[in-house]
Amino acid sequence: MTNKTIPKFLMLIDGALTGGVNDGWLTSVNPANEQEIGRFAVAEAVDVERAALAAEKAQPAWEERSMTERARLVRETCRRLSERADEILSLEVRDTGNTIGRMKNDLAAAIGLVEYYIGVAPELKGETFPSPASILRFTLREPYGVVGRIAPFNHPLYFALTGLAGPLMAGNAVVIKPPEQSPLSASILAEACRDVLPAGVVNIVNGPGAVTGQALVQNPRIRRLAFTGSVPTGLAIQRAAAEVGIKHLSLELGGKNPMIVFPDVDLDAVADAAVAGMNFAWQGQSCGATSRLILHEDIHDQVLERVIARVGHILPGDPLDERSGMGPINSRAHYDRVLQHIANASEDGAQLVIGGRRPAGREFEQGYWIEPTVFSQVKPGMRLARQEIFGPVLAVMRWRSLDELVSLANDTEYGLAASVWTRDVAGALKLSRRIKTGVFGVNSNSWHAIGVPFGGAGNSGIGREECLEELLSYTEIKSIHVAL
Ligand code: NAD
Repeated sequence: MTNKTIPKFLMLIDGALTGGVNDGWLTSVNPANEQEIGRFAVAEAVDVERAALAAEKAQPAWEERSMTERARLVRETCRRLSERADEILSLEVRDTGNTIGRMKNDLAAAIGLVEYYIGVAPELKGETFPSPASILRFTLREPYGVVGRIAPFNHPLYFALTGLAGPLMAGNAVVIKPPEQSPLSASILAEACRDVLPAGVVNIVNGPGAVTGQALVQNPRIRRLAFTGSVPTGLAIQRAAAEVGIKHLSLELGGKNPMIVFPDVDLDAVADAAVAGMNFAWQGQSCGATSRLILHEDIHDQVLERVIARVGHILPGDPLDERSGMGPINSRAHYDRVLQHIANASEDGAQLVIGGRRPAGREFEQGYWIEPTVFSQVKPGMRLARQEIFGPVLAVMRWRSLDELVSLANDTEYGLAASVWTRDVAGALKLSRRIKTGVFGVNSNSWHAIGVPFGGAGNSGIGREECLEELLSYTEIKSIHVAL
């Protein structure tokens, strides 16, 4: 394919679809077959500044609009996206490699969360304080002005859309940076925002993290940053932000989430949950994937056998085919990383019990394919026990005593999600106090429910999302004292 036939995708700055000032372009590749599917404009610091300036100019009038009016416009943006749901789905499946069957729900789920932010927005209120009749003391919640959002590759449109709703309902303007590996669906969001919202209220800038992301983090007009991505990038953002001033950061970072199993469980149900929890249909590229299965020694072998049998039935295939159980890894760079993790696991002495290779067949000769993979005999201290892979690789571990279990479960830098599987719910709740985690499941790996805080302890992040706290976090409090 020549460059002439590859569609081009623009950014949104100040209400106009545009390229970068320096006319930089990158290519997005379909990870299922390595074919180029689109060229997208790259924002350098000068373009990020154009976007931030446009946002800064547009924000006061946006804040002046009534809550009802802001809600109407955000809803209308969603409606325009819904009208193009099929187009978004087809583009995003090709751009990410995620399977269509699972990806179908992403837009509807995102719009559901947007509706939540709209519904809860009247809670952006202040307080009054006890005081003598001669003085009135109260607080206001004021928007920061311009909020910057940086998103990861696993749910590009979902994170872009849900990421703008909270800041907008709180009266901010937004600059969003989608992931450079899978940026194309953001162009449809850009068109919807251009057609519905006042110019500059939402700006979308694309490009590599080290260029566009860094420029966004260090732009002085952006005082509030919300980041979703990996721990190393979260740390880089903290450092880069600190070089230019005090910024308010929220960080939604990675996980190495333990699924802890007691011996009193239904073995088939637990094996089903372990496989579903790994999100193999998303190639394991989920921050909430239960990538450490920690089994009591009495049931270890029976559960492992059942997990292997189920994993053996997951069939990778064309992500656009509803029957495919798994797609390719999102990008060449990430594919190489996942393969390196698999090699490290073998080198450290973990036992590969299924998968670990490119699937057989002509359709898998091109693209970033890896079979769903399970390692057993994973011991504390091995890299596989501690490092997030963000790929289709499950680590199975064994526990005997409760203290050993707690130490295993907490033995990573992460603390995003954890679950305990047992009939003893009281025992599980007691255990919840000893596990370093932001989200805890008892007989459940279901971490997301509208309005329920989601976010990590330890190095898994700062702040909580999908809840009222997130909405409030796009405002700062001003205290007012009025002598009457
Ligand atoms: P990543 O950290 O490599 O990149 C995320 C985003 O940050 C991208 O848009 C990238 O361009 C940008 N970026 C990279 N370097 C930057 C820099 N120096 N300054 C500013 N921006 C920069 O993450 P990824 O590989 O896209 O996504 C996978 C990670 O995201 C995993 O660790 C996963 O667990 C995490 N994640 C967390 C959640 C959550 O809610 N906690 C959700 C999804 C993904």
